[in-house]
Amino acid sequence: MTFETSKRIDNWCKRHQENGCVSHATAGEQFVYKFLPSGIVECQTVKCLCCGKEFTDYVE
Ligand SMILES: [Zn+2]
Repeated sequence: MTFETSKRIDNWCKRHQENGCVSHATAGEQFVYKFLPSGIVECQTVKCLCCGKEFTDYVE
């Protein structure tokens, strides 16, 4: 089973970095993703490890 992040999640990450929160870690290590299937929708959460900000999206 593979997981793909939604476009909204990707955009949030991009915007977040454009807004000035850029990790000094290797690209790709700034964000952690959580996938929680719940019923008919999948709850995707991305968290920035730099500032702790989170964004949640629901994907059908
Ligand atoms: Zn951040």
